[in-house]
This record gives sequence, C-alpha cells and structure tokens, in this order.
Amino acid sequence: MASSLSLILLVLCGLPMAQAQLKVFNLRATGLPSDILGITDGYVKVFCGSATLGKTEVRKDTVNPWWEEEFSYFKAQAQDVLRLEVYDRDLVFDDLLGVCQRQIRPGTHAHDCFLKKGGTLHYVYTLGQNN
Ligand code: CA
Repeated sequence: MASSLSLILLVLCGLPMAQAQLKVFNLRATGLPSDILGITDGYVKVFCGSATLGKTEVRKDTVNPWWEEEFSYFKAQAQDVLRLEVYDRDLVFDDLLGVCQRQIRPGTHAHDCFLKKGGTLHYVYTLGQNN
C-alpha cells in the first residue's frame, strides 16, 4: 500500500511542464455598491491555490475602479483555483463585496464576475509555460 502510494507520488512529481506561469491583469470593476460611509474605496486581493499573490492599491471614491497592478505566479498548475476578493476599504472593517473563483486552464482568458453585494469584477489571466 505504502509503496504503491510512493510510486504514484513519484510519477506525479516527475510529470514534465507541471508548473506554469500565471499572470493576472486588467483588473477593473463596474457598479460597486456604496455604503453609508461614502463612495466605495475598492481594492482586490489575489490568490492562487494556497498562495497569496498580493493585493492592489485602494482606489478611493469610485464605484468603477481600475487597477494597474499585474500579478505573477511561477508555480501555478492547470486546475489550480484562482481566487479574487474585492473589498471596500472602511474605517474599521473592510467590507468584502464579493469573491471570484475559478479553476485556471492554459491560455489567455477574460472573465466578468458578479459580486455578491453588487457590481462586477472584470479581469484577465494568462496561464503559460515557464520560459
Ligand atoms: Ca468605504
């Protein structure tokens, strides 16, 4: 039992081109909800699998923000889950407006994701081979 498991692990680890480069970019949002504290101050946190790729700057006082940051991850694999969390920065607690999750696949893909509390997040990702 143990030896066959080791063999499977050995085979999985030995697969060529298992890891690829992920890039996430062109992040923008439309129609973000405002609250009583004022117009939305939006930012996005980006994750791939268990890795944190980073977060954007806060775009103050706009319900239609865009972000110029680009996020890269060199250890991505097809079927990993890309996760984007959209927040509204507030004085005490930042408000989670919505979460976008999907399994990544090779190529370049643009997506629109509807946020639970209102508004839409637009983003593009590319999954390609490491050079
Ligand atoms: Ca706010």
